[in-house]
Amino acid sequence: MPIDWWLLHWLPMSEWIGGAALWMVLSILLLVLVLLPWFPALMPRSPAAVVTPAQCSGCRLCVADCPYEAIHLAPHPNLKPGRQIAVVDPDRCAACGICVGACPTASPLFPAAQLISGIDLPDMPIDTFRRRLVAGLSAPNAPRRVLFACAQAARTFDDDRLLVMPFACAAQMPPTFVDLALRLGATEVWINSCSAGACTYRLGGDWVADRLARKRSPRLRRQVPASAWRLTQHDIGAENELFDTWASRPQTTELHQ
Ligand code: SF4
Ligand code: SF4
Repeated sequence: MPIDWWLLHWLPMSEWIGGAALWMVLSILLLVLVLLPWFPALMPRSPAAVVTPAQCSGCRLCVADCPYEAIHLAPHPNLKPGRQIAVVDPDRCAACGICVGACPTASPLFPAAQLISGIDLPDMPIDTFRRRLVAGLSAPNAPRRVLFACAQAARTFDDDRLLVMPFACAAQMPPTFVDLALRLGATEVWINSCSAGACTYRLGGDWVADRLARKRSPRLRRQVPASAWRLTQHDIGAENELFDTWASRPQTTELHQ
């Protein structure tokens, strides 16, 4: 906003409202922004998550991880009596994708030509992420480092030596994406999420950290060496810190030969 706009509009307005009232308005606005994640109905949203009955075994992992209690289990329409299926309440769903990262069927290591998850976001199905990763690491002179980035955290930057893959939330990424990136030739995988307590979707940062630390299902596979991946937590506004973290890495052997 140009400085003359502030002089013309803001200063006269502050005199008119009065200093105390103005600060109260600003405080309320700030409070609304901080509380927004706790009222998903007020957040701008993409279409709600959808369940594919043929893929859902009723394992309950998505129910346990959804920060908005938007999923419950119900009798499965196609399986034997007693089997269950996930059901999404679209009014509660914030389209964060955390349930996708929890679903065992979202693993990109499945050999099927099209990856169909038990639960998925219609606007950004998990299959498109697998295709993007495979294409991004298979091209001639492809980068050898991958950044799985939370789209709500620090904005990423362009660098030919780095394949950047933004997810709606870092916890939308099933941990096996780290596996797949390494199998496709990446030498280092980096995941950036919001920091604890600053997650736009309440618990995504916590869940991705716990899954990668193998404290929560779905866990990162034991075969993945700790030296091959790294979790950082740079929030929106901390772009310089995110870039500094990248720039401080050894900058050799960046591209496939
Ligand atoms: S997209 Fe997010 S809010 Fe919606 S059901 Fe999945 S975990 Fe819950
Ligand atoms: S995590 Fe996947 S398979 Fe398990 S209940 Fe949810 S949608 Fe079904």
